[in-house]
Amino acid sequence: MKIKCPKCKSNKLWHLNDGRFRCCLCRERFSTLRFPVRINLKTLKKVVSEFLLEHSTNLILERVNISKYKLLKILTLLRIELTLDVPKIFAGTVEVDETYLGGQWKNKSLKMKRKLAKSKRGRGTTKQPVFGILCRNGQVFAEVVGNVEARDLQPLIEKQVQKGTTICSDTWRGYTGIAAKGYVHRFVNHSKNEYSDGKGHHINGLEGFWGYLKRKLSAKGGIRKERLPIYLGEYVWRYNKRHLNFKEREKLILKPILAKYSI
Ligand SMILES: [Zn+2]
Repeated sequence: MKIKCPKCKSNKLWHLNDGRFRCCLCRERFSTLRFPVRINLKTLKKVVSEFLLEHSTNLILERVNISKYKLLKILTLLRIELTLDVPKIFAGTVEVDETYLGGQWKNKSLKMKRKLAKSKRGRGTTKQPVFGILCRNGQVFAEVVGNVEARDLQPLIEKQVQKGTTICSDTWRGYTGIAAKGYVHRFVNHSKNEYSDGKGHHINGLEGFWGYLKRKLSAKGGIRKERLPIYLGEYVWRYNKRHLNFKEREKLILKPILAKYSI
């Protein structure tokens, strides 16, 4: 099949690095990758604005003429897009911390429920650990982690935080040795119930984000555990873009989708 420019039908095209094409004649940029769900742009835009308003699936179905199957597929695609939108490398002063999610799962087996009932709070539980970094400019990075040892957490710090940055953490051993990797390490004593050392070294920002995340997940009424990464991606994105207005957020979601796919 010969690829043609959708605007002027020319077949003189450049292949761009991002997989799209650019017409040599009219300079139109376009993609030949089809959006995984057959939908027109107007309907997709409606779904995006309903999604941004955090409306429930049932309410969206009442307001947008689309099948439930298609809607659920699109919502998953949107969450994946938001998960891919990772903030730029952090510098200055950052906070690092982990949290545990557990009460939010849907369809827990009886065996799992018994296991959870026996589990203790905090570190060493069967709950799902999530690691987070907060830059004092208010941006958050968070990822689901298998474990909370140094080998699990420190590579993520090195990936997301510029060397020389001041890192505030509690005294958990997963953060031991981070100073040797080129960071300024400041401790906050969790166990004494103080989140600050009185010199501006605290992890209150992340405590705030964990609270926000847990409220949002609880409001969902339970999610499937395997879907946690994309919900985490969604709420990190919403938190990071909280200062933008509705139109700006709408644009930010649509832009990468329209660049990647032909709709
Ligand atoms: Zn053209």
